[in-house]
Amino acid sequence: MSTDAVAEIKARLDILDVVGDHVSLHRSGTQHIGLCPFHAEKTPSFSVSQQRQAFYCHGCHEGGDIFTFVQKIEGVDFSRALELLAERAGVELERSPRAAARGAGRRRSLELNDRAARYYEYVLWSLPAGEPGRRLLAERAVDPALARRFRVGFAPAGGPAGSALVRYLTGKGGALPAEVADAGLASRGRDLFRNRVVFPIADERGQVIGFGGRALGDAPPKYLNTPETGVYHKSIALFGLDQARQALRERRQAVVVEGYFDVLAAHAAGVDGVVASSGTVLTRDQVRILARHADQVVLCFDGDAAGRRAAGTAVDLCAAEKLPARIAVMPAGFKDPDEMVRSDPPAFAALIGGAAPEWRVLVEWAIGDAGADVDERRAAAERVVDVLVRIPEATTRDLYVQEAARRLELAAPALAADVAKARAPGTRGPVRLSAPPPPPAAGIEALGAGLEEGDVGHPPPSWEELLAAFAVQRPALARVLVDEMGLDLDELASPAVRRLLEAALAVPPGSELFVDGLGPGDRRLAAQLQTRDVPELGPDPLVLERAMADCVQRVRGADRRGRYRRDIRDILAGPDPDRDENVAARHRRLLEEERNPPG
Ligand SMILES: [Zn+2]
Repeated sequence: MSTDAVAEIKARLDILDVVGDHVSLHRSGTQHIGLCPFHAEKTPSFSVSQQRQAFYCHGCHEGGDIFTFVQKIEGVDFSRALELLAERAGVELERSPRAAARGAGRRRSLELNDRAARYYEYVLWSLPAGEPGRRLLAERAVDPALARRFRVGFAPAGGPAGSALVRYLTGKGGALPAEVADAGLASRGRDLFRNRVVFPIADERGQVIGFGGRALGDAPPKYLNTPETGVYHKSIALFGLDQARQALRERRQAVVVEGYFDVLAAHAAGVDGVVASSGTVLTRDQVRILARHADQVVLCFDGDAAGRRAAGTAVDLCAAEKLPARIAVMPAGFKDPDEMVRSDPPAFAALIGGAAPEWRVLVEWAIGDAGADVDERRAAAERVVDVLVRIPEATTRDLYVQEAARRLELAAPALAADVAKARAPGTRGPVRLSAPPPPPAAGIEALGAGLEEGDVGHPPPSWEELLAAFAVQRPALARVLVDEMGLDLDELASPAVRRLLEAALAVPPGSELFVDGLGPGDRRLAAQLQTRDVPELGPDPLVLERAMADCVQRVRGADRRGRYRRDIRDILAGPDPDRDENVAARHRRLLEEERNPPG
């Protein structure tokens, strides 16, 4: 990593712009505040300091600089965050030849995908070859303006060689055939998408990373997707996310549908925070991405058995990510959202608005139409138990146990007992012969015992925090504290504050502290201190000097008191033959000094 590049990027970019892409911020005093994108909240506790170029959340304690923010929000590592921000800032990165080649390949793929999207659009709207695509869109009643917004296009048959796009992209000194293949657009010289309506799939920033292609008629496969490439990863790609971002920011609710046409239909019905997992069932990674943009999802899948199964799986994924979900159940007579919107747009918006909590729907489906028949009710009870065991929170589970028992006319304790039995370890899978593992609580305690004192759960004393705030906001002050005011870092009670001051001492004159280079706990503390208003750092140097001297004084006093306390503990623990002083007299003197410290 080049620190020059980091400094250059920081100089060119403003954290308000970088964060503002994901969080709507408003000014409050010297800070900008908004709803934290890293945890669900209703009142803003996420604050950004433009002056310090740092962010900190008082709710979940996440914090750092633009590099930290991009890593967290995009789910990438530091080097990728550096690349993304360098690109945004227009800064060239010096890198290893292999990384450089990979970056160049990725940029080339993005460029070719974008050119392909433009080509497909041109064919759809302007060429006779696009007629079948225009007809399909008209049949599906897709508004042309909406189709243009999503950059829908048409991939022509491409002549006898099936290579219209390849010829277009490689012609006139354009791309190499290998580059077109790497971008996922061709295979063995032939266009991947032929005779299909194509939906560009974009990343969160709106760059086309791949396509989903819908066949005309029933030619198999009905849907075809870009294969895995350097830029397209189907397990994280979400169709419509770029178009949904504004709505997600405003409402924090994401609607998940199954198909490309469903996404367009939802927009046509005025439901715009909508995405589709492209060409796969929803994945855990996709749910993770949704959890960054929304506090709740509404699952609106096809009304068939496959759609119900997909909804059930999605509910489990959301539960694993602690993302509350609702299920909008397609009314009888409609196959999917697209069909419903074509017949009644307002009814679709109402369906989404009235979606029921996920577990209620799953329990309802499990009960089905079990009547009074004993065998039917027993089978339904078994299906219900299978659902209830998946509910992570005990209170929610208990509520649904009560409800299901009432519906099935069973005694709630009996149903609860079945659920408890099914949840017990070892009841699923092979019979366990050895003793069950200890309950997790014991494991956590054992872990806690190994934690270093002072690192967790011990906030630094207020004066040490203030010292650390001086040092992270103005690293040059660390030198003054140590060289001129005689601060001894070993006297600091908080190891985190000591590390921050050491980091500040290492900052070259005129530079800023590189917060993202710190360990996670230290980074959060540094970010918290950077986004804090420190009046002592105002225009009056005398105020600052007095505050610094006062803090140094307190560190010394506290350190001495700490030493006395340790001495007293030692003495109380038993007489020390090496000490020549009378134990009781020494004890008295120390207690006296503890009350009235000298100096
Ligand atoms: Zn937060």
